[in-house]
Amino acid sequence: MGVSENPLISLFQAFQNISNCIQTQISSLTGIAINPSPPTSNDKQLSSLLSFSSSSSDLSTQQGKVSIPVTKEELGRATWTFLHTLAAQYPEHPTRQQKKDVKELMAILSRMYPCKECADHFKEVLRSNPVQAGSQSEFSQWLCHVHNVVNRSLGKPVFLCERVDARWGKLDCEQRLCDLHGSTDFGGGIL
Ligand code: FAD
Repeated sequence: MGVSENPLISLFQAFQNISNCIQTQISSLTGIAINPSPPTSNDKQLSSLLSFSSSSSDLSTQQGKVSIPVTKEELGRATWTFLHTLAAQYPEHPTRQQKKDVKELMAILSRMYPCKECADHFKEVLRSNPVQAGSQSEFSQWLCHVHNVVNRSLGKPVFLCERVDARWGKLDCEQRLCDLHGSTDFGGGIL
């Protein structure tokens, strides 16, 4: 059965169209940009349940509704959230392996970040600002600094790095189950 023959899919899409239409109207009245909401996992589940007998390519090619691309800005915000949260969770006394891992993570980001222009720029940023991850405070301050280098290049305001701990706290996680454990050998020897 094709998409157009399934009345539930039409209903579901009609709701999405109405919702997008309302958002566009509000946006034009208030001047505040509201992006049509990307499909949530519930939307996707519902959509895939409803399209039980039609192939997924029917939906994406015929209706153009299923796959909504992530913008460079959304990707950037999500990545900075990940990185600053990692820095907040980073141990005060990291193991050698943890120090090696964050350096490698940044190097991988500069090669594999899914925006080539950004990755290439970040590679240059890393070249002039080698990763400093000897402690939690060192890593979070370094990250704040390189984020500011990117901010400046994009004409964005510079963030006050003394405020980084107020902006990015440890992950909200019960009983500190999410904590990363560092070294107990503060001399940096065995671990
Ligand atoms: P973002 O810069 O995404 O910041 C998110 C939040 O972090 C802010 O709201 C603020 O509360 C906080 N914040 C801001 N600055 C700091 C700081 N210095 N320290 C701690 N917290 C801070 N986009 C491009 O167009 N070209 C590029 O070359 C490019 N390179 C990028 C490289 C990397 C590694 C990453 C992760 C992203 C890159 N981006 C690039 C995306 C860009 O940095 C922004 O994420 C995007 O433009 C959205 O910006 P925003 O104003 O919403 O805030």
